[in-house]
Amino acid sequence: AKAEGRNTYQIYNETMDAESRRRATVLASLRKALDRGEFRLVFQPRMALADGRITGVEALLRWHSAELGEISPVVFIPLAEESGLILPIGEWVLEEACQTLKRWRNHGLTELSIGINVSVLQLLRSNLPEHLTQVIEDTGVPANRIELEVTESMVMQNAEQTTNVLNELRKIGVSLAIDDFGTGYSSLVYLKRLPIDTLKIDKEFIGDLTRDPDDEAITATVITMGHSLGLNVIAEGVETEQQLSYLREQGCDEIQGFWLSPPLDSHRCLAFIRSWQPGTVA
Ligand code: C2E
Ligand code: CA
Ligand code: CA
Ligand code: CA
Repeated sequence: AKAEGRNTYQIYNETMDAESRRRATVLASLRKALDRGEFRLVFQPRMALADGRITGVEALLRWHSAELGEISPVVFIPLAEESGLILPIGEWVLEEACQTLKRWRNHGLTELSIGINVSVLQLLRSNLPEHLTQVIEDTGVPANRIELEVTESMVMQNAEQTTNVLNELRKIGVSLAIDDFGTGYSSLVYLKRLPIDTLKIDKEFIGDLTRDPDDEAITATVITMGHSLGLNVIAEGVETEQQLSYLREQGCDEIQGFWLSPPLDSHRCLAFIRSWQPGTVA
C-alpha cells in the first residue's frame, strides 16, 4: 500500500507539473496577445419570446495565438484574471464592442443592445466607470444600449465593494445583468439591494430542461423570482425547440443559444439580424 501511495503521489505530481507548465506557456503568449492583435470578438444574438424580435447581442472574446492556435475563453479568461491582464484586455473588449455597435447603428439597428462580460477585477481595480464614460462619448452609443454582465458568484464574494461600483455604473445609465444565475448562492435580500436589471439563467440548468425536473423547478423559480423583483430574465444555452417552449410557458423574457444562432463574427451577425423574420417564431 505504501508503494502504491508513493506512485499515486508521483503521478499526481507529474500531472501538476505538466499543468503548471502549460499554464505558464499560455500565460506567456497571453501577455503578447493584445499587442499582436490576436483577439477578436464574436457576437451571439438574443431574442424576445413575446414577439420574436432580436433585442441584442452578447460580445464574446476569442483568442487565436500565433504559437498555440485557438484557445478557449474558459481557459484564458481565468489566467487573464489571475495575472491582472484582464484589465487591459477588458478595456479592449469594451472599446471593440461599442465600435461594432456604432457601425451597426449606422446601418439602422438602433434598437439593439450589446451585452459585455465584465470580470469582477474590472469592477474592483479598474477605472471602469471613467473608461466607460469615455467610450460612450467617443462612439455615441447610448448608455442604455450597453448591458454589462457580471457573474453571480463573483459579485456575491465581494458584495459590499461591487455594489458601490455597480451603483456608479448605473448612474452612467448602462444596464446591469447578473450572469450564470443559479450557480452562486444569492440571497433574495442581496438580489433586491443590487442595482440590476437582468438575470441570465445559467446554461447548466437550461441544458437539462424537459429531462431533469430539478432543473425545471430551478428555472421556473428563477423566472418567477426575477419577475417579482421587476427584472428581465434571459435563458442562455437554449439549444432545442422543447427548451424554448418550456421557457415560453414559464414566461421567460428572452432566450440566447444555438437554437437561435451560435456566436458569429460581426459581418455575419449583422447579416443574420438584418435577415431575421420575427413573425416565424412568435
Ligand atoms: P458566458 O458569459 O456564460 O457566455 C456564454 C457561453 O455559452 C459562451 O461560451 C457561448 O459561446 C456559449 N454558448 C452560447 N450558446 C450556447 C448553447 O446553446 N449551448 C452551449 N452549450 N453553449 C452556448 P464562450 O464564448 O466559450 O465563453 C465562455 C465564458 O468566457 C463566458 O461565459 C464568459 O464567462 C467568459 N468570457 C467570454 N468573453 C469574455 C469577455 O470579453 N470578458 C470576460 N471577462 N469574460 C468573457
Ligand atoms: Ca455572459
Ligand atoms: Ca452565462
Ligand atoms: Ca456559464
